[in-house]
Amino acid sequence: MSRFWSGFVKELDPYVPGEQPKLANLTKLNTNENPYGPSPKVIEAIRMAASDRLRLYPDPTSAELRQAIADFYQIDSAYVFVGNGSDEVLGHVFNALFRHEAPILFPDISYSFYPVYCQLYQISFDKVPLNDAFEIDVDNYSNTNGGIIFPNPNAPTGCLLALSDIEKLLRKNTDSVVVIDEAYIDFGGESAVSLVKDYPNLLVVQTMSKSRSLAGLRIGYAIGQPELIEALVRVKDSFNSYPVDSLASAAGIAAMKDKAYFKDTCQAVIDERNKVVTGLQELGFDVLPSAANFVFASHKQAKAADIAAGLRKEGIIVRHFNKPRIEQFLRISIGTATENQQLLSVMDTLV
Ligand SMILES: *Cc1c(COP(=O)(O)O)cnc(C)c1O
Repeated sequence: MSRFWSGFVKELDPYVPGEQPKLANLTKLNTNENPYGPSPKVIEAIRMAASDRLRLYPDPTSAELRQAIADFYQIDSAYVFVGNGSDEVLGHVFNALFRHEAPILFPDISYSFYPVYCQLYQISFDKVPLNDAFEIDVDNYSNTNGGIIFPNPNAPTGCLLALSDIEKLLRKNTDSVVVIDEAYIDFGGESAVSLVKDYPNLLVVQTMSKSRSLAGLRIGYAIGQPELIEALVRVKDSFNSYPVDSLASAAGIAAMKDKAYFKDTCQAVIDERNKVVTGLQELGFDVLPSAANFVFASHKQAKAADIAAGLRKEGIIVRHFNKPRIEQFLRISIGTATENQQLLSVMDTLV
């Protein structure tokens, strides 16, 4: 704390990211990174872009990258906004679209960055409890609100909400924006991008960090009608005109174009997830149905905190949230086949 700080900084309670340990020999199943590397075409694109041209500023509108994303979803590029990771995109979304009188709504168990943005931008919020199966029930989102946001599949539960439920929510909530944070949608869900043309109140946010294996590069994007995109551009251009650097842009374009690699690696994660779920169930875990690249599991007897500590001793890190309703759960990212086998065999000695 310092007398030099702006007043509100003293009150901030910032987001705490999953740990990125320096030790190389740890099995990292704690931050939902993709176990497979990015497409070789992405690495090649970065090599090509690492040139004398780096002395130039990148295109402030990221036109080519937005076009590559638009092509992938077969929409117009006027529907696409890009930023330095989806966390930054989400920050602009809260600032540009959620600063209204009424509180915004999100689930009681959800991405823990949402309340942090609310504090930063002085947005009030109401948490809507998940049902007993840890699912989102859209009938509970009926209060007057300044916006609605949740991940689909939800984090950290992994549970998927059907597109028909999202449509129901959009229909009864026409006066505020509904943001679907699709960080994990490519691991088994159906994207709400297909609904964007019909619903001016829908904004879909995605990231290249998970399904395109580019967490280190920082590219996120939002898809919605141009009226919503314009608000994001206005905030972005009042903050940082060049959020996506030239290397990231080249890599992002290559990532969107290499559909075969994307499809194969997503499928490999899904196949591994199925094995992990079966293995954990055999060890006495209850595992929530996951459509993501992680599972959320609680053991019938053993305490989650003890299991996490035991795994850690053996060099495996998973995520444990010491929070109401979920203190008995572990969030375990899907790793490579070798990592997942290691997880299950160490787990076998702990429970
Ligand atoms: C990982 C994650 C993000 C952030 O992704 P970045 O693009 O790496 O900033 C956003 N929302 C959810 C729900 C996530 O899990």
